[in-house]
Amino acid sequence: MKLPGQLYVDGAYREAASGARTSLINPATEAEFTTVSAAGTADVEAAVASAQRAWEGGWRDLAPGKRAEILYRIARLLRDYVEHIAEFEMLQIGKPIADARDEAGLGARVFEYYAGAISQFGGQTLPVARGGFDFTLRQSMGVVAAIVPWNFPFPIACWKVAPALAAGNCVVLKPASLSPLTALALGEIAHAAGLPAGVLQVLPGSGSVVGDALVSHPLIRKVSFTGSTEVGRHIMGLAAKDIKRVSLELGGKSPNIVFADADWQKAADNSPMSVFANTGQDCCARSRVYVERSVYEPFVERFVGATQKLIVGDPTHTETQLGPMVSAGQRASVEAYLDDARKTGATIACGGGRPLAKGYYLSPTVLLNAGADSKCWREEIFGPVVAITPFDDEAAMLRDVNASPYGLSGSIWTQNLSRALRVSRAVQSGVLSVNSHSSVHVEAPFGGFKTSGLGRDLGMSAMEGYTELKNVYVAE
Ligand code: NAD
Repeated sequence: MKLPGQLYVDGAYREAASGARTSLINPATEAEFTTVSAAGTADVEAAVASAQRAWEGGWRDLAPGKRAEILYRIARLLRDYVEHIAEFEMLQIGKPIADARDEAGLGARVFEYYAGAISQFGGQTLPVARGGFDFTLRQSMGVVAAIVPWNFPFPIACWKVAPALAAGNCVVLKPASLSPLTALALGEIAHAAGLPAGVLQVLPGSGSVVGDALVSHPLIRKVSFTGSTEVGRHIMGLAAKDIKRVSLELGGKSPNIVFADADWQKAADNSPMSVFANTGQDCCARSRVYVERSVYEPFVERFVGATQKLIVGDPTHTETQLGPMVSAGQRASVEAYLDDARKTGATIACGGGRPLAKGYYLSPTVLLNAGADSKCWREEIFGPVVAITPFDDEAAMLRDVNASPYGLSGSIWTQNLSRALRVSRAVQSGVLSVNSHSSVHVEAPFGGFKTSGLGRDLGMSAMEGYTELKNVYVAE
């Protein structure tokens, strides 16, 4: 498979109408390695019109078994192309190759799951008071806009596209400007697997041009967005005009709560990667750690030791755990947080600098004594920075946890079952894990409370979110 370089519309690659192109920089080398067409509003018009034709012209009415067959074929072909997808992901965002391969496989798994879900998905019959016969239908919506970020470009694209297609919609996918390659590869592979032309279009381009044009387009019935809370808020405002359906997966500041009765050694060994994986550019990053005071000091020592052993470096090496940050701008924004931490009295227990001369690298950084009102404790940093604090009282700790405007993920470490259940209920987050850090399961709903989002990706909830619910009453 060749490196994609154009828009994918109507089952073929084509240049943007304006001829505009954006260059892509490899974050590990800081060198431009290719250019890609940048869509404009004329391309949005063409792609949405083609998607609407494909929906009306057959995709919405295709027998569910046929839709499932195509999705299974997409999954199989994605598996055949795992190496290509992984390499594109690594080049465009600096993701370590081992992670990029896992995520390419995850994308294929998502298509398998929704291919299987199609035959299980439907409405209900309801015993209504008037007698007669009452049933519900889950109907496709039409054309869905999927707008995705650069941190997990391929799996997030798959977990929006697959359930939307499974439910009978057509999709216009807009990748982030920094990461168009794997989204384009998905378009090409899906088409090669038998997806009819127009059912999936891929439009790289800027958020303010392509994103806004999609969200404002009258034929777009739903916007499925993953990205920052700020842009999510803007999209929700634009969508209000036509009462478009929106689902929003936004930012986070997830807590990692370690009680003294936990296997805290295991927690300390595992927790660094719960925040530093993907070089901290993860909406679920456990970036504020609360440790019960009696084990705080040994926990910190062990956490710092485990952090210092992480392998930071060349993303082409299979043993690399942390690659560069995605861009110079993203690193500068994280360094500004570190400057603020230093000024406001936090201690840097390890990291804080640039470990390599070339590439947008930043060492994994552990902050202690960050003030409860400091930016580093309160805001999403979106880089390899964690803050650790001791706590004495469960109720006071939970008040601080829930004072955050975010509520995406979180971890709770304890061997006490009652406490695990009590704290799981109390933490205001959409996704929690006990004695683990895993947040994403293809089969389970994923999404946030409060400003972390609206609606759910993954699981059957996502498929429901790509349908309209209709009730039909038939008198006897
Ligand atoms: P971003 O909000 O800058 O961009 C996300 C997407 O929105 C991109 O495709 C971008 O081009 C587009 N966009 C930008 N401005 C737009 C506009 N005016 N109208 C329409 N679309 C527009 O986010 P990012 O920097 O790519 O990603 C990082 C953010 O994403 C972090 O806040 C992170 O927490 C969040 N995120 C959330 C999840 C989740 O599932 N909750 C997952 C990954 C990332």
